[in-house]
Amino acid sequence: MEQEVTLLEMLEAREARASRQREILDSLGCPVVSFTMNIPGPVKNGPTIRRAFREGLLRLDAALETAGLSTLSREEIDRPTGCEALWAVRGSGRQIKELCAAIEDRDPLGRLFDLDVLDPERGGWSREDLGLSPRRCLVCGRVGKGCASRRLHTVEELRQRTGAILRDFFARQDRDALAGQAARALMYEVCTTPKPGLVDRANCGSHRDMDLFTFLDSTAALLPYWRQAVSIGQETAALLPEETFLRLREAGAEAERAMLQATRGVNTHKGMIFSMGCLLGASGRLWRPEGPCRDAARLLEECARMSAGAVEDAFSALTPETARTFGARLYLETGLRGIRGEVAGGFPSVLLTGLPTLRALLERGVSMERAGVSVLLALMARTVDTNLIARGGPEGQRWAAAQAAGLLAQGLLPALEAVEALDREMIRRNLSPGGCADLLAVTYFLHAVTDG
Ligand SMILES: [Zn+2]
Repeated sequence: MEQEVTLLEMLEAREARASRQREILDSLGCPVVSFTMNIPGPVKNGPTIRRAFREGLLRLDAALETAGLSTLSREEIDRPTGCEALWAVRGSGRQIKELCAAIEDRDPLGRLFDLDVLDPERGGWSREDLGLSPRRCLVCGRVGKGCASRRLHTVEELRQRTGAILRDFFARQDRDALAGQAARALMYEVCTTPKPGLVDRANCGSHRDMDLFTFLDSTAALLPYWRQAVSIGQETAALLPEETFLRLREAGAEAERAMLQATRGVNTHKGMIFSMGCLLGASGRLWRPEGPCRDAARLLEECARMSAGAVEDAFSALTPETARTFGARLYLETGLRGIRGEVAGGFPSVLLTGLPTLRALLERGVSMERAGVSVLLALMARTVDTNLIARGGPEGQRWAAAQAAGLLAQGLLPALEAVEALDREMIRRNLSPGGCADLLAVTYFLHAVTDG
């Protein structure tokens, strides 16, 4: 609904606003704050403008609350001519105008906010009344209305500058939020208990060199990488998907070093750096100023577009001489591709098993942790986890998959005692489904950031 409006419509909206302001002033007899967005060009409303407007509402509400000023009424209007809000506030007009001017001057979006204060006794408060300088030009930063009255900048210049302010602000905000969700997903995964063979809150599973705290150390160390991965996606969105993947791989190598430093050399999250990094890069590529992509299938498809070629090339270039890791040798012997194949294929296990299982259980009112235990079992039952093969051979993997399937045979919520018994048996057999643990974390992440 990016609708163009005419000057006449804008004047009518201003007239309607002024008359509503007078009504509030007359009926409540206290200062009124009028908030509109300062948007150049004929399009005055849309998803991103509305999003910025909501930020403005939060800022003024918070400022009023902090100052201990009570709001008697607040109304919002959302029209093609723009978003508007009117607050009736009990307090001194001067103090309220000071709060508003501080938001206009200091908030990253403040240049796009117009916060006018009307006082029942003296009319409007201006910045000059407070001894403040007039506002700066949106484009060149010069003080005052000189640029506007002499039309020094074209509407296109003004529109571009506005677009850049909105874009920069929400790009950073969403980057931080997505990185936080990735860290949260890793913490949810490691804390989910009981997890057969894996590090959880009860024990270290089949691992001798790591515990819960090793994972927390690693999770904290990786936070900057998650942010960087979204950023790489945002910056390379216009380039080929493979280009994003190459940049992620370079940054991922740095992240591995940070992880090993934090864990004193233990590999806690190498698979996660690859899979979550790819997913965050995809989120960055599909990001728009109105918000991140909330379509799980689209995000996963983008992961496949980014990584499929590179993963294919890497596997097809392998020879018995160059295959140095367990995963590489396993691929040559069996064709199994592990977590890399999962990412390159668009995470079919997460899309078809992880997410549907998690959401079905949450809808039934099951707790996140309890649902996560079942998601892990479902992933173990239906995927070939190469981490299980690494320790127990194909027989060990098949055994563990059959055990998980057996637990789920009577229903999606097996008794926790039975899961704990499997945990003990997997520890005895030195088996650990690390690949499925990564997929559980990806499932937690996708559940939090997507709608379906
Ligand atoms: Zn200017």
